[in-house]
Amino acid sequence: MLFDTNKIIVQELPSLGNEHTKVSTLRTDLIHPIVSGNKWFKLRFYLEEAKRLKCNTLASFGGAYSNHIVAIAAACKLNGLASVGFIRGESCNSPTLMEAEALGMQLHFISRDAYKYKEVVMGEFANKGWFWINEGGYGINGALGAASILLVKDCSAFTHIICAAGTGTMLAGLVMGANENQSVLGISVLKNNFGLNEMVNVLLPPEKSNAFTTIHDYHFGGYAKYPTKLIEYMNQLYSREQLPTDIVYTSKLFYATEDLIQQQYFNQPANLLIIHSGGLQGNRSLEPGRLIF
Ligand SMILES: *Cc1c(COP(=O)(O)O)cnc(C)c1O
Repeated sequence: MLFDTNKIIVQELPSLGNEHTKVSTLRTDLIHPIVSGNKWFKLRFYLEEAKRLKCNTLASFGGAYSNHIVAIAAACKLNGLASVGFIRGESCNSPTLMEAEALGMQLHFISRDAYKYKEVVMGEFANKGWFWINEGGYGINGALGAASILLVKDCSAFTHIICAAGTGTMLAGLVMGANENQSVLGISVLKNNFGLNEMVNVLLPPEKSNAFTTIHDYHFGGYAKYPTKLIEYMNQLYSREQLPTDIVYTSKLFYATEDLIQQQYFNQPANLLIIHSGGLQGNRSLEPGRLIF
């Protein structure tokens, strides 16, 4: 089965909460050790559409440690499809790319400059009949897939749903999937990504427009930046709750939530659900020994 959602649990995190604030996390990272978390959900309807269109090759873009790239490679292999990854930068044999290649993905390295003009790259390969997926899975199908994250468990008792936001696709999906009385909050992991709200709104039906909040104070210097303070937090969180997080997304998400609780950001009583969106494979870009898990 492609999505082994039976492995997902709701884990309570007593050390993050207080007497008025209960905190839990939906562990979508448990789906698979490498291809973990939200990328599975974001891809499911793209795969269906590709099959419907009788495209047997999926192509997309990503960096050398991209969760999205390795998820596409695995999803294609499981579905008997071919995959092509356009990778930003010079040739690199990161564990992520080696894994993607082992899963059958054909890799093309493109310079950082050329990477900015994806339409040009897509134009060069237009005659191949490939099914293209945006970087990070951004798009309506991605959001619809992410909406199904909230169907894995009964999430109706939570007052707030909190996630990390890169392209905002998962955030849009959670807004679609949430009840009217639930607040949905996205923690931006990119610096000064003030276009994020618009990116999310584009994916939402009009009646859900702006039915979410984004917070921009917890990027720790920017995308894929991980100061020592963040690494220390990850180790400390793991010791407290046996909860592994990744350096790009979920560490910032849990840090932010904990900080917001301390600042009394949430109305009380609150019952928070933090979406653990996976991404643990990306920690392989760290020097060994920096994490205790
Ligand atoms: C890609 C990713 C996100 C961000 O998802 P978007 O839909 O791009 O906002 C969050 N967490 C993890 C672990 C991811 O891999």
